[in-house]
Formats: sequence, C-alpha cells, structure tokens
Amino acid sequence: MARAIVVRETGGPEVMIGTDVQVGTPGPGEVRLRQTAIGVNFIDTYHRSGLYPIANLPFTPGMEAVGEVEEIGEGVTDLKEGDRVCYGNGPMGSYASDRIMPTGSLIKVPGALGDEQVAGMMLRGLTVWYLLRSLHDLKAGETVLFHAAAGGVGLIFCQWAKHIGATVIGTVGSEEKAELAKASGCDHVILYKNEDFVSKVNAITDGKKVSVVYDGVGKDTFMGSLDCLQKRGLMVSFGNASGPPPALEIGSLGPKGSLFVTRPTLFDYTGTRDQLVQGCNDLFDVVGSGAVNIEVGQSYGLEQAGHAHNDLESRKTTGSTILLP
Ligand code: NDP
Repeated sequence: MARAIVVRETGGPEVMIGTDVQVGTPGPGEVRLRQTAIGVNFIDTYHRSGLYPIANLPFTPGMEAVGEVEEIGEGVTDLKEGDRVCYGNGPMGSYASDRIMPTGSLIKVPGALGDEQVAGMMLRGLTVWYLLRSLHDLKAGETVLFHAAAGGVGLIFCQWAKHIGATVIGTVGSEEKAELAKASGCDHVILYKNEDFVSKVNAITDGKKVSVVYDGVGKDTFMGSLDCLQKRGLMVSFGNASGPPPALEIGSLGPKGSLFVTRPTLFDYTGTRDQLVQGCNDLFDVVGSGAVNIEVGQSYGLEQAGHAHNDLESRKTTGSTILLP
C-alpha cells in the first residue's frame, strides 16, 4: 500500500492528511514511480489554501519529486525499470510515496546529483532558468532587484545571476537570511522589514535604479517594486508569498518610465518537451559545474507536510524545502 497526502477541502496546513492509497498499474505512455524525495514549493500552499483553485477535490498536492521507475506502461521505450528520474512542473500529486507519471514530464537524473539535491532544485531551478534566461536574457553588468533572496528560488537566483556577472540587490526578512543571501552571491542585501527598500535601491544604485525587479512576494512589495525600475524597466511579478498584488492601473506605467509588467508562470516557459529539456540541461550544467549549489534548508517526513507548509508560510524556512517519504 502506498501513502499520499490527501486534501479533501481547501484550508490551512491541517487539511493535508496522510492516507493509504492504491496506485494501480501504469497505462500507455506512463510509468509507476517509487519516490525518494519530494520538493515543497510555495505554489503547493496556494493549491492547498484555495488561492489557486483546483477543479477536482480530493487531490494530492505537490509538483516536484525524484524517484525510481518501478514499472513501465505499454509503449514506453525511453525509460526502463530502475531508471532514476525527476520532474519539476507536475502534474500535481507529488506528495506521495509512489505514483503514476506520464513519461513526457520526466527527465533522467544525472548520476552525480543526489536525491535531496534534485528534489530541492527542479521547480525552483527551472523557475530561475526561465526568469534569467528565457523571459529576460540577463547580462553581465546588469543590476536587478530580487525579493525574498534567501528563499528557495532566491538562493538559486543569486548564485546563477552572479555566475552570469550581474549585480543582485536582494531583500530578506532577517539578519540570518541576509548572511545566507550574501554567501550565495547577493551583492547588496536589504532588510525590508526595517528598511524602506525603494530608497535603499535608489541609494545603492546612485539613483540609476534597476533594469528588472523579480517580485515573488506580491502584495507587500508590488507597488514599491515599480518605483525601483529604470525607464523602460521590466517588472516580473511571479508570486504572492505575502498575498496577491493589488490591481494595477495600466495608465500609471507611463509616468513611472514606460514600464513593462509581466505575470509569468513556469508552465508557459517549460510547456513543450524541447523547452523542458533545454531548461533542465542548463540547470544540470550550472549545478554540475558547481556554479550553483542547492541549499536544502529543511526536510520533513511525508506525513509532516502540514508542518512544512506552516514553516514555509511563517517565513521560517531558508533555501529549498523537501519531504522524505
Ligand atoms: P520561498 O522559499 O522564497 O518562501 C517565500 C519567502 O517569501 C519567505 O521565506 C519570505 O522570505 C518571503 N515573504 C515575504 N512576505 C511573506 C509573507 N507575508 N508570508 C510568507 N512569506 C513571505 O518560496 P519559493 O522559493 O517556493 O517561492 C518563491 C516565490 O516564487 C513564491 O511567491 C512562489 O509562488 C513563486 N514562484 C513562482 C513561479 C512562477 O513560475 N510564477 C514558480 C516558482 C515559484 P523573507 O522572510 O526573507 O521575506
């Protein structure tokens, strides 16, 4: 019998209940996986709470995991039993010991990478890849602002941007997080609970401001972020850790300097097999070369998924968070 976290009604972390489940056998184009490590991402909290509605209840949350192929379905030729594979962009249902997966979402794991490292890097690393390689081609010498720089996406972003040669200004919620962000290549750290990040960015850049703001915090930072941008700068609003951003009056973007605003999602940048493979290859390269280290800040048992969500939403975590089934 397999175990899975099941959500029967949306709500707080307590709605995630460990449950015995039947996994069944894989159909055509599918494999059955025994999962060895599972990524916990902020998006899982939006699914659990109902902020991002899920059409069919009950459901098992989670978009990311690594594991071993135990059984292959009809017509599967690119994978075999015993292969180590991972996925970072669903389909949803990764909070489980075992599951059925379509092969089109799976990527073989390079031998040198450990399970915990992989579970901590696929969704977050692919996100960073599209943020600085696909949505915007970040260049050496460019200065950008990244909110929540010591988080899961944040620590990977700081290292990758540094590797490219960009200057990163990062916001963080504590002194401890400031140290972590700096150690990951963040050039200037702003403690945004105590300091006004808009005037700090202005001071750090001698009034030049930044070319791109990457804002996954949302409600508390969105409006200020617009004021950190140079003329024709790019506002990337990619998350809601503090709540959804306020409605935007499109006309306000003119006087602020003809700004660009985008609200991207990972799926629209990794939705085709070619995009997914390209992103994974680039990610495996920067991690394999040592340019980017994956910091798994905390791990929990599968049954402690609610505890993990609670810590993530309470700003207690740093780097990546994983579950071990
Ligand atoms: P993090 O590990 O970054 O955790 C979120 C961080 O946000 C916290 O640690 C905290 O850092 C900061 N934060 C600020 N205000 C709050 C608040 N009120 N409540 C909780 N946290 C707050 O999470 P992830 O790395 O998993 O994700 C980061 C962001 O990126 C999320 O918004 C997520 O939804 C988004 N995302 C978007 C994707 C996309 O394609 N659009 C894909 C992947 C992630 P601090 O204490 O330093 O302020």
